[in-house]
Amino acid sequence: MEKVKAKKKYGQNFLRDTTILDKIIQSMPNNNNYMVEIGPGLGDLTKNLVKYKDMTAYEVDTDLISVLKSKFAIQIEEGKLKLIHTDVLVAWDKQKTLHDGKYDLIANLPYYIATNIILRAFEDKNCEHIIVMVQKEVAEKFTAKVNDKDYSSLGIITELISVDSKILFDVPPESFDPPPKIISSILYIKKDMDKYLDKDFNKFLKACFVQPRKKLSKNLTSVLSKDTIFEIYKELNINDNVRPHEVSSSLYSQMHTRVKDGRN
Ligand code: SAM
Repeated sequence: MEKVKAKKKYGQNFLRDTTILDKIIQSMPNNNNYMVEIGPGLGDLTKNLVKYKDMTAYEVDTDLISVLKSKFAIQIEEGKLKLIHTDVLVAWDKQKTLHDGKYDLIANLPYYIATNIILRAFEDKNCEHIIVMVQKEVAEKFTAKVNDKDYSSLGIITELISVDSKILFDVPPESFDPPPKIISSILYIKKDMDKYLDKDFNKFLKACFVQPRKKLSKNLTSVLSKDTIFEIYKELNINDNVRPHEVSSSLYSQMHTRVKDGRN
């Protein structure tokens, strides 16, 4: 391994297993979209990706930026790789999108901000495919359906704004250096380009699941009056005893529309 010590604070677990790297490359959608990688690290995945397409990579760690600049000097010079030294969340705050034009997001994500990054990609209107390595439990939440034990705001949002979402395969700790304490999974999401995440809806869902085992109507009292809840339940034919994980994503969407209309 290069003389760079993995930094815990940046969630650095470098993927060094060539079989897994090949499998990720084979999972890439076959289209004309541009490619964006978050956290290229030591560049093992980047090296394989840049053979196929021009791309931009966002990396926060100064030490890794120097390694990457020398490793990819030719590709940078030829304009095939654009390396951006920044915290990707700051980049998203500033420019709303990671690329001006349709793109696919590929990453072995730092676990400490993985959920946040996927939600930001949901808000980014130019991002179409998301192919990311995350903690297995996180991937299960994003792909959970109504009545599943992991069903929450993440599964609901994914179902509403995507045309396809699935776990492609798991990756064991031994595939990384240093090995993480958890199992990872490759999560695949194809967004519906006419839809994107509404932050207000996300907030509403969080309130709905604040106490996941309690009745949904009880959770809703933190954001709505009892009379409003009663009216919405009647209008949408919802049973008063229903728990948050028993309600379909489309019903949550209808409830939220009704709440927004009530506010206007
Ligand atoms: N892609 C490499 C690989 O597969 O071996 C490294 C993956 S490592 C799990 C996560 C990478 O994300 C690290 O390179 C880390 O420095 C970078 N990173 C962490 N936080 C970041 C942030 N906020 N913005 C951009 N990159 C970040």
